[in-house]
Order: sequence, then C-alpha cells, then structure tokens
Amino acid sequence: MSRAYNFSAGPAMLPEPVLRRAMDEMLDWHGSGMCVAEMSHRGKEFMSIAEQAEADLRELLAIPDGYKVLFLQGGASTQFAMVPLNLMGRGEGADYIKTGSWSKKAIAEAKRFGAVRIAATTEEDRFTRAPAQDELALDAGSAYVHYTPNETIEGVEFPYIPDVGERPLVADMSSTLLSRPIDVARYGIIYAGAQKNIGPAGLTIVIVREDLIGAATEQTPTMLDYRTHAESGSMYNTPPTYAWYLAGLVFQWLKDLGGLSAMATINERKAAALYAAIDASDFYANPVEPGSRSWMNVPFTLADPELDAKFLAEAKAEGLLTLKGHRSVGGMRASIYNAMPEEAVQALIAFMQEFERRNG
Ligand SMILES: *Cc1c(COP(=O)(O)O)cnc(C)c1O
Repeated sequence: MSRAYNFSAGPAMLPEPVLRRAMDEMLDWHGSGMCVAEMSHRGKEFMSIAEQAEADLRELLAIPDGYKVLFLQGGASTQFAMVPLNLMGRGEGADYIKTGSWSKKAIAEAKRFGAVRIAATTEEDRFTRAPAQDELALDAGSAYVHYTPNETIEGVEFPYIPDVGERPLVADMSSTLLSRPIDVARYGIIYAGAQKNIGPAGLTIVIVREDLIGAATEQTPTMLDYRTHAESGSMYNTPPTYAWYLAGLVFQWLKDLGGLSAMATINERKAAALYAAIDASDFYANPVEPGSRSWMNVPFTLADPELDAKFLAEAKAEGLLTLKGHRSVGGMRASIYNAMPEEAVQALIAFMQEFERRNG
C-alpha cells in the first residue's frame, strides 16, 4: 500500500495516525461492540467522544469562558446565512472585508438579510494582498464586521487581526483554523468547515461568544438559530457523529504533537520552503504580496501555461496529487494543511526543480 501526497484544497489529507486509529476502532470502539457511526448520539459512548473532542478543542485554542463551541452541519456556506440571520438585528447593517472568492460569497449571501457595506476591498489589486488596518472604513452602527482570514482560492492570508473596536468580529477560518494559535477573545464568531484543516467533510465548527446568541430574527429557521444548538449541546437533531469523532482524533493528534505553537512552527517552515523555491525560480511565480501569503494554500503559475497539463500528469505519477489551481485563478495550487507532512513539501519542491530543469 502506498499513500499519496494529496495537495487538494478540501476535502484534504488527514493525519495518517488518525486514520490508523480510526481503522483500529472501526468495528469495535473501546469494547462497545459498535462502530462510532452506529452509535446513538445520545448514548454514553458517543457523549463521551463528543465531550472529549470539545474539551480538547477548547484546550488547543485556549478558548476563554463565555464562548460556546458548536458542532454543526451545512458547511461554512451555511454560516454565510446564519451569521446575518443571528447578528444583523444588532445594528444598522454589517461591514464586510472583500479579499477574494470566499468573502465575495459571504457578502452575496448576507445581502439577502440586510445592508452590507464593503469596509475594504483589494479587488483592484486582483486579490493579491490583505488590506492594511488603516484601509478599513468601519461604520459606527455596524452590527458586526466579517472577514476571511485566509482566502483559500487566492492564497491570501491576513498577517494581523483587524481592530474593529466594540463591534463583534466574525471570521471565516475554514482554511486556517488550527494552523497556529489565535487569540479567540478578539472574535465574536469564528467558523470553519472541517474538511480543510480539522477533519472530514460534513462537520462545521462554530465558536460563538455567548452574548451574540439569542437575537436571531423571528423568521429564522430553528436549525439556523445559534440558540438552538447552544442550548442542546449541538444535539438538537442528529449531529454528524462520525465526522465529530474523527475531528476529535485530529485534536488528540495535535495535542500529542505539542499543540498549536508546535504545529505553527512546522507550518511556517513548510510554507517558507515552498515560497522560497518559487521565488528562486523564473519558471514559477506566485502573485501574492509576500506579507499576505498564506501558510495553507500556495497558488503558483508556470511561465508557460502550455506545460500545465504535463506538470500535473508527471506530478501525479510521482504521487503528488490534486495540484491543479482553482478554475477561477488557473495555474497550480498546493494546499499544505496541518496533515501535509514536511517531507511531502520537500518532495514537491524536488519535483518542481526537476521539472524546470527538463522543461525550463
Ligand atoms: C472551503 C471554504 C468555504 C466553503 O466551505 P463549505 O464547507 O464547502 O461550505 C468557505 N470559506 C472558505 C474560506 C473556504 O475555504
């Protein structure tokens, strides 16, 4: 058996020790005689899995008291609607920072529920940088400020947390949560689809400050009200049990590794090596301003796009999968989330250099 290095933006690689442990526990979880996928979500076995996962996530992110952690479904895309449905009533419209494809989708959805102001955009720079703090034009009456700390498609990451005063700061962290320590207290809401850096698809993590729960508009469907899930421990209906369990195994893997500072050191090293290889070559290029480059998603182009198909085919033959860039950007994209081993990044760099030598 050989495991490939899968550079997909999501669903993405899971840590091999997590998959092995899931395999060991597949038919009989801890003497229960059941696979986790077969358990009642209200039984004591699954309750213990769920509680441990939440405790481990709280420990990893040092989540302060006063925040709920919700394990939901619907992906980050459902949060594009849940955020305005639950928060819009707190002020006069909301401020959104527009930095790429995912923030554009969040903006389009929020417009269905209230007034959306664009506090800053980098569209005129073709989304190749994060705006600076002094570019943010925030409204005094704004219900909240929404931004996308890591734009998965453009490979642009904020190097700072925006200062938004008393307004709640809402962050779509789908492709960056758990890549490094963060100061959760700076945020009103953090949300993330799991399939990038947390676990399998089907699970959405929402970390929400308690004072932001309970003000949803009257027409808000029960399932889209944070209160429903906060009051029921994310068990109002059947949660995505197996995905929750696998995410819990990922949290334990991260703890064993030394937590998020240890993970950040590795992630920074992986990204630095790949960007250095791209910058050292005239054959490869990355358009993002160095100060805004993503640790997780590294888009790059070949000098001659005619070579793209050949690059992808030869990479695949070497076990380097899913390097094709997003259709809106073209070229290549290497997503190097937590589970991507350092030696995989080295293998990619070696392949890129060899490909350039033969075709440059
Ligand atoms: C992948 C992604 C999404 C969409 O996530 P789904 O879980 O598929 O809805 C939203 N925002 C960002 C930043 C993403 O990377």
